[in-house]
Amino acid sequence: MKCITTVSYSILINEEPSQTIHPSRGLRQGDPLSPYLFLLCIEGLHGLISRAATSGDIRSISICRNEASGQRLNREQTTLFFSKNTASEVQDSIKALIGVPEIKQYEKYLGLPSFVGRRKRASLAYIKDCIWSKLQEWKEKLLSQAGREVLLKAVVQAIPTYSMSCFKLPATLCHKIEIMIRKFWWGQRIHWVKWRTLCKPKAIGGMGFKELQKFNDAMLAKQVWRLLQNQDSLFFCFFKSKFFPCGSIFDAKENKGSFAWRSILKGRDLIRSGLKWRIGNGSKVDKSWKVAKIDSMFIPEEAAIIKAIPLSLFDWDDLHFWPYTRDGVYIVKLGYQVLMEQEDTESQVTVDRGVVSNVWKAIWSMRVPNRVGTFVWLAGTNSLPTKVNLVRRKVLNEDVCLECKAQLKDTMHALWTCLILKDMWKVSFSRLMADTGTCSNFIEILEQASTDKFTLELFAITVSEVWQHRNRAQVGEPMVSLNMLPPKASNALREF
Ligand SMILES: [Zn+2]
Repeated sequence: MKCITTVSYSILINEEPSQTIHPSRGLRQGDPLSPYLFLLCIEGLHGLISRAATSGDIRSISICRNEASGQRLNREQTTLFFSKNTASEVQDSIKALIGVPEIKQYEKYLGLPSFVGRRKRASLAYIKDCIWSKLQEWKEKLLSQAGREVLLKAVVQAIPTYSMSCFKLPATLCHKIEIMIRKFWWGQRIHWVKWRTLCKPKAIGGMGFKELQKFNDAMLAKQVWRLLQNQDSLFFCFFKSKFFPCGSIFDAKENKGSFAWRSILKGRDLIRSGLKWRIGNGSKVDKSWKVAKIDSMFIPEEAAIIKAIPLSLFDWDDLHFWPYTRDGVYIVKLGYQVLMEQEDTESQVTVDRGVVSNVWKAIWSMRVPNRVGTFVWLAGTNSLPTKVNLVRRKVLNEDVCLECKAQLKDTMHALWTCLILKDMWKVSFSRLMADTGTCSNFIEILEQASTDKFTLELFAITVSEVWQHRNRAQVGEPMVSLNMLPPKASNALREF
């Protein structure tokens, strides 16, 4: 423990920094090592015990008598944990001898489970329970979908992040958590949009939820990055001597070590897939160009120039850098983005980033109540319970519009082309009507509206009112005339 002196403090006295103080003992909060410390020590202790047992230095468990050591057990703060190989008579006699309670539960240390053996799922189940109880608490409150989104992102998705920075959570656990999130957000039986799409960034038509397994990998990759970059840290020294005495973390074998270590290794692929060298004196790399590759990629004149680039005159070290950030330092957020994009490339999903991205960006930057933004997203992704959609999901048998008797009451019809809406749109949005004559899809109408910020905001509020109006009409509730909706929307926008 004597090597835990990684932090130093300096205090401002009369606005002048004092001399640095080096704490010589104990663990400080915020030390990046802290979550690992317990695991580290336990690994070391375990190794020592096994060695002592092999060499015959220890044979049986002896528990010191109070008089012998001068120390006493604090019975209030002590619990016993027996492995299931311990015979129940032995357990009983030990319990009787020291008189402290036994625990069956997996206790946590610094917020993380201290025993993660073969029963990973059991040790990490507390994450799921914690999320479950949060969601139950909120269920009582009447929250809009937009409100639920905020709570899910700010609270629920943050619950597992601490554990995810140390452990690779089992896929089934991530999946179960995602199902809970999904159910809570939709708040209804039918989930109109795939989880994969909900996890896309908002700028390209998703809702920006997190795919937990990928986020987990991106967080573990941060530890790999630390093991590549911070070679002076205790964290590095420990793991290097144990798992990759020669070479780097990329040379460590995957089947060795504790759960915590094997978890870290799961972050390797992400780092490896993008890692580049920033060449200094060339001491860590092969000091020659891959001539054939350069010749095949560039025209001869350019190839000649590239091949003539000399090594740096300064004696700088070769450094790893991560090409997706400007300063070359790995960050979790972009690591996650890279993983998401890799999957798109693998499944050959092409995202038309240009056009689509502009309309979504405009939608999410509207200054309107959150629920209006969410409503427009639902409309734009064809996720409203329109008659056409309900027929497709076999909830209804026919998709006729009751008001104008037209077939196929889809999003476009319900919000824009239905005969009963014609007058209203003509009076308040004549320009938009003229510009959208050839549009066949509601997202195209939104795209057209998004050319002007104010028009888009007013249009968004009005369509959300139209939708509510039509729903109320379905159940025969009294309501104002349709022509009142645009002025009402305009008021709402002014007051917001
Ligand atoms: Zn109609």
